[in-house]
Amino acid sequence: MEPTDLMEPTAPVFDIQRFSLHDGPGIRSLVFLKGCSLHCPWCQNPESQETKPVIAFYEDRCKKSFECIAVCPNEAIRLEGFRVDYGRCEQCTRCVDACAYGALRLIGERLTPQQLMSRLLADRPYYESSGGGVTFTGGEPTLHHQFLERVLTFCKEAGIHTNLETAGTFSWVTWERTLGLLDLIYFDLKILDAELYRQHLGAGFARMMENAAKLVAGGFPVEFRMALIPGFTDTPANLEAVVDLFQALGKNTIHLLAYHNMGEAKIDIIQGAQPKLGLARHTDEQWHRMRRVFEQGGIEVLG
Ligand code: SF4
Ligand code: SF4
Repeated sequence: MEPTDLMEPTAPVFDIQRFSLHDGPGIRSLVFLKGCSLHCPWCQNPESQETKPVIAFYEDRCKKSFECIAVCPNEAIRLEGFRVDYGRCEQCTRCVDACAYGALRLIGERLTPQQLMSRLLADRPYYESSGGGVTFTGGEPTLHHQFLERVLTFCKEAGIHTNLETAGTFSWVTWERTLGLLDLIYFDLKILDAELYRQHLGAGFARMMENAAKLVAGGFPVEFRMALIPGFTDTPANLEAVVDLFQALGKNTIHLLAYHNMGEAKIDIIQGAQPKLGLARHTDEQWHRMRRVFEQGGIEVLG
């Protein structure tokens, strides 16, 4: 580590997906930042919710060879059940290196802006040839303001297109200046009833609504998205509330995202508390009916 790195803000990055054709135009790198202020019961990345890095345990890969016990300085490896005692573990990763079977993995590598940029710049030719760039997602990436301000400044200087995915509960005062560095903002709407929002997701409803209005009024490059989650966001009342909000904001396009439960498989690797909802996916007929609610409200549904 360079001496100047000690002064640098860091953020826990839990994945970088390269060559993605989703989450913005062209070929993109998706940077997943750990930590979230909400706790959506349908979260597709349950390993992202805690800000702190964590050791994941893949029980199906474990051969019970117990090299991990020998190297752990904190007696944080258990013989039975979930291998890691999170109360004792200090994420030194010695067990990860010792496990020959890939049964243990660090989720959340702390990177400085320069370290992240050196990885992103490797794919710059792909961004340039495809009109792509980098998308910051999570978790809730806006929790890492200092880090992202540096990264976004680097990207701007390098001419790399940037997109930020947010649930909108960020501090406007903190982010206002930094938002101007972004080429695109994907704003994820969820539940538009204040009490249901608090009950299912947590705090931040009023701030989310204010930020949505400020982004539109300020002419920021914001596009709204919504994942249609059975029984949570797909209710007739919630869809109508989104239509009403769009009419109030003067917006007329939305990205609709289909529900899938692939995130549930990841709950066990971190001993997560998130419930396994086991919801059925929408049928084509249900999907078309929901689309029509938006279209009848004058809102174009984007792919
Ligand atoms: S070293 Fe890996 S395979 Fe062996 S007991 Fe530990 S986690 Fe399981
Ligand atoms: S990361 Fe370090 S402290 Fe945590 S269980 Fe592994 S060896 Fe022990």
